[in-house]
Amino acid sequence: MAFTLQGIPVSRGIAIGRAHVLASAALEVVHYRVAVEQVAAEILRLDDAVAQVVNELYSLASDLPPDSPPEFSALLELHRLILQDPLLSEEPKRLIAERRYNAEWALTTQLQAAVAQFEEIEDSYLAARQADVEQVVERVLKLLTGSATAFPEPSLGNDDMLIIAHDIAPADMLQFKKRPFGGFATDLGSATSHTAIVARSLDIPAIVGLSSASRLIRQDEWVIIDGDAGVLIVDPSPIVLEEYRLKRRDAELQREKLRRLANMPTRTLDEVPIELLANIELPADCAMANDVGAMGIGLYRTEFLFMNRHGDLPDEQEQFEAYRAVVDAMTGRPVTIRTLDIGADKPFDAEVPSNAANPALGLRAIRYCLAEPQMFLTQLRAILRASAFGPTRLLIPMIAHLHEIDQTLGLIAQARTQLDARGLAYDRELLIGGMIEIPAAALSLASFVKRLDFLSIGTNDLIQYTLAIDRTDNTVAHLYDPLHPAVLQLVAQTIRAGERAGIPVSVCGEMAGDPALARLLLGMGLREFSMHPAQILSVKQEILRADLSRCRTITKKVLATGEPVKIRALLEASAPPQ
Ligand code: PEP
Ligand code: MG
Repeated sequence: MAFTLQGIPVSRGIAIGRAHVLASAALEVVHYRVAVEQVAAEILRLDDAVAQVVNELYSLASDLPPDSPPEFSALLELHRLILQDPLLSEEPKRLIAERRYNAEWALTTQLQAAVAQFEEIEDSYLAARQADVEQVVERVLKLLTGSATAFPEPSLGNDDMLIIAHDIAPADMLQFKKRPFGGFATDLGSATSHTAIVARSLDIPAIVGLSSASRLIRQDEWVIIDGDAGVLIVDPSPIVLEEYRLKRRDAELQREKLRRLANMPTRTLDEVPIELLANIELPADCAMANDVGAMGIGLYRTEFLFMNRHGDLPDEQEQFEAYRAVVDAMTGRPVTIRTLDIGADKPFDAEVPSNAANPALGLRAIRYCLAEPQMFLTQLRAILRASAFGPTRLLIPMIAHLHEIDQTLGLIAQARTQLDARGLAYDRELLIGGMIEIPAAALSLASFVKRLDFLSIGTNDLIQYTLAIDRTDNTVAHLYDPLHPAVLQLVAQTIRAGERAGIPVSVCGEMAGDPALARLLLGMGLREFSMHPAQILSVKQEILRADLSRCRTITKKVLATGEPVKIRALLEASAPPQ
């Protein structure tokens, strides 16, 4: 019988094929008590299984191809550490010895204790790590029960084998690299879960959070995974199947066509050049930015260099080497290095939750840096030193007050003096910009533009702070609206203020990477877009077929409309035919 399930889309595209349902070992373990004389052997059985999984994780890490995203090895390491935690490596042995539980029972009892602890946690990042603990336990259980995850050989032909699971460990996700499965769908997971992160980097259609897909779908049943809409269709009718095959074919042709755009100059129909820049988190991300022809880096989120190091912050040399690696990789194209935007959903250490009642409104980004001037000076010196090797711009996040800009400029002057004293080179003309991501900043531009060389609009936070929506909170995610008239007015005003002051303005929040919003932003006067490299070619395609005078007319109408529903209708009606 045909039915449809709705989940959270995490990786785009359409996959059609037969379901391969992975059983969840944790749901199926047998419970029995072992005889006293069997206790030692049972503990040994558990130890062996744990050791085998640890070895497996080591060998998966050493087999990673050199071009694997760095998250892969970090995830394998995280799973190894979880497994070696006494909660999982010692406590189950106590349960075997004292209560004479069998190894599987002891392990799932500990898993339940861990899950109960996680349920108390409010931090969404930490809460999502519950899935990692479950995945690690699942691996051990599969060994104990002799049902290690068997990844079948994929079928040949046009239709793939699609994985349906209660949850998939990131380590298991790596198997997708070697075997061309078409996609996957899971009962658990959120957009920030590690599995979702790995799926996105593998670029296969995926949906998480389907609640009970693994119970409702039978082995070998036909399924369609629509990773764009987050919809999973089970046992589709021949008409629906045909429709999705066409859609999939169209999407493939579209991707092929897009790839051809990488080396073309980005100009509107009326020949106005537009700069498409990349957002990166790590120096390794420059490879993808180069592949899609990015004109430079519009946002380098340096905080990723500082995160999860358990108190060991990178020194000036380590930072300089990372920043210089990006400048070198971009071979003469500009690199915008954002100073540390730590705090809120990006704490130094994911294991140390913030004490602040409202971390997003607390001591984060430039506020934190100004409170820690020695640490900030170290970063400023490292950025300045990297600027000697290619065009570099420095970007200050989260500014709300003029005095924050003045204090930062003062510290940059101090960092320059310190480098002069050491005889080290830097670009004396280094451009200094500010992020406009707090409504107060968007409304204070007259004074801000006198101090800054460029502006970059961080729409992710601008929307969060304008609409009072915590951007990490699922329960209010439906209210997070880039097309809210208040947001559009602030973005348009900022672009106009930059134009009037004669300084460049870019958008580096997610709005810049949404092809549906490209013409609206062009109509506002935006000429620099910065986004994740995976989005660059789709946005480029929209720009190549945009006519600026038409864009201006639509944008004028949109800005005069106070109603988001009408704004959406206007944008849809004005889209050029595909
Ligand atoms: C933004 O806020 O739009 C932005 C680009 O910065 P981040 O997402 O890192 O906060
Ligand atoms: Mg931001």
